[in-house]
Amino acid sequence: MARIAVIGAGTGAMAAAVRLAVAGHRVTVYERSGTYGGSLGRHARDGFVFDTGPSLLHLPAVYRDLFVKTGKEPLERCVTLTQVDPASRHLFADGTAVSLPDASRAGVVGALDRALGEGAGTRWAEFLDRAGTAWDRSRRPLLEEPLRDGDAPVRDPYPAVRQRRLLRPARQATTLAQIGAWELADPRLAALLDGYALSYGLDPRRAPAAAALLPYMEQTFGSWYVSGGMRELAGALYERCVLRRVSFVFDAEVVRVAEKDGRAAGVELADGTYADADHVVLGAQPRPELMPSQAGETGGPAAGRAAVPGRFVVMLSLHGAREAGAVHRTVVHCEDRAAEQDAVFGGRVAGVPTVTVLRPDDPSTRPDEAHEAVTLTATVAPQGPVDWTDPALRERFADVLTGRAARAVPGLRERVLRAEVRTPADTAAETGAAGGSVPAPALAGAAGAFLRPGNRTALSGLYLAGGWAHPGGGPPHAGMSGALVAGLVVEGDGFRGSR
Ligand SMILES: Cc1cc2nc3c(=O)[nH]c(=O)nc-3n(C[C@H](O)[C@H](O)[C@H](O)COP(=O)(O)OP(=O)(O)OC[C@H]3O[C@@H](n4cnc5c(N)ncnc54)[C@H](O)[C@@H]3O)c2cc1C
Repeated sequence: MARIAVIGAGTGAMAAAVRLAVAGHRVTVYERSGTYGGSLGRHARDGFVFDTGPSLLHLPAVYRDLFVKTGKEPLERCVTLTQVDPASRHLFADGTAVSLPDASRAGVVGALDRALGEGAGTRWAEFLDRAGTAWDRSRRPLLEEPLRDGDAPVRDPYPAVRQRRLLRPARQATTLAQIGAWELADPRLAALLDGYALSYGLDPRRAPAAAALLPYMEQTFGSWYVSGGMRELAGALYERCVLRRVSFVFDAEVVRVAEKDGRAAGVELADGTYADADHVVLGAQPRPELMPSQAGETGGPAAGRAAVPGRFVVMLSLHGAREAGAVHRTVVHCEDRAAEQDAVFGGRVAGVPTVTVLRPDDPSTRPDEAHEAVTLTATVAPQGPVDWTDPALRERFADVLTGRAARAVPGLRERVLRAEVRTPADTAAETGAAGGSVPAPALAGAAGAFLRPGNRTALSGLYLAGGWAHPGGGPPHAGMSGALVAGLVVEGDGFRGSR
């Protein structure tokens, strides 16, 4: 039995902790805040309840596997999962609207044909077939296996269409934006694709074509709502950890990973105390001051890139009932995508952002049936280049989001009882990530620029879990990082994958 210190109680860290405890190790989680879950937070006031982080679960199989392997109660007995159908409604700049059914290729084709014109659905379906190939090619190396030096999946697995052109060289898309322009050839389909990238914090103009697997993943495996909000998933994971005798120490900030005789030897806490450990798992962003120099380069290939965006969230407490048939998730696309992308990825505030409007049909999120809790989200530049602590800016931008969202929710402005705002500055405080940046899933292609550092560091006994490590951000990917770390600790360097 080894002593294992886990830094942070985010989903990736807890996923590693519980698997390691089940393997027979003595695991202690040190969390700097007073609670578990990291970004999977909840804000509740006067009977209105909001997710402060992600609000939909994709790839629930990751957590089904974790719950099966760590105890008798399957995931579905610990949380209530409901498929969100339609998965999303899109309001495009030209006034076109389309609702996309969940996990139904034929349904999506029909909806796009009806809304965008005959042929649009087929074009999207052909694109999804290619995106499915990218998924099949990268699922094992990018989700289910640890990243190894030398065999990193740097080649783009997306089979872009080779396009012949009169008197000019043929061309093939290498970025998501080029897929939109050249293969989808409809500004609304391109906006749909860009919207997926932006929702994960990726710049479609730089994201490799492999990012096509993100809409494939959502449209194939579905979008799921956890009753009560995503915080319930964090709660179930925490309870499973406690059941398997993982110890938690809250209000315990780790200031340094200790090293002795060439391996990780424990953690030093902000109050000056020290805890010995045989292995250390870092489940937060690997900031240099935390790491012994022997850990090597943990910023990963993507470290030198432009600042990673965060999220601006407006939580609206509304009077008036949620109308029958209201859609759970509506994306209000902006008129000028290039201007928005220039702003978000150039460290400025977008004049007109793409806004995701979330209206879960969940009585536990509202005081009664005469009220509704609605969340608006936009991907924005991180804290730093933009000062999101400026109250005037927060208010002004919240007003812009509310104005855009009014296109999706009739009479929205008149229904607002209270608007509360969370910005990248709040995310930074909650997760410890610099600037409140939110990491995207790792992607193949672009010569490895969108990969994250591997789960095993150069310092023996020190491992990385969570969204800032392989295979990247988001609840399912962070959950997989936990499985990979546990595999590496238990089986050693010979560990080849979690399935
Ligand atoms: C507003 C918002 C919206 C998001 N939306 C989406 C989305 O739509 N889709 C998606 O896929 N993902 C989204 N994410 C990202 C997703 O929530 C995370 O990638 C996922 O939850 C994995 O988190 P994690 O394991 O990396 O831990 P985190 O959630 O980052 O938590 C890290 C934990 O470590 C603790 N910690 C940090 N430093 C220390 C230290 N030195 N000592 C002790 N403890 C420490 C923190 O307090 C925190 O509890 C969103 C995140 C936010 C904030």
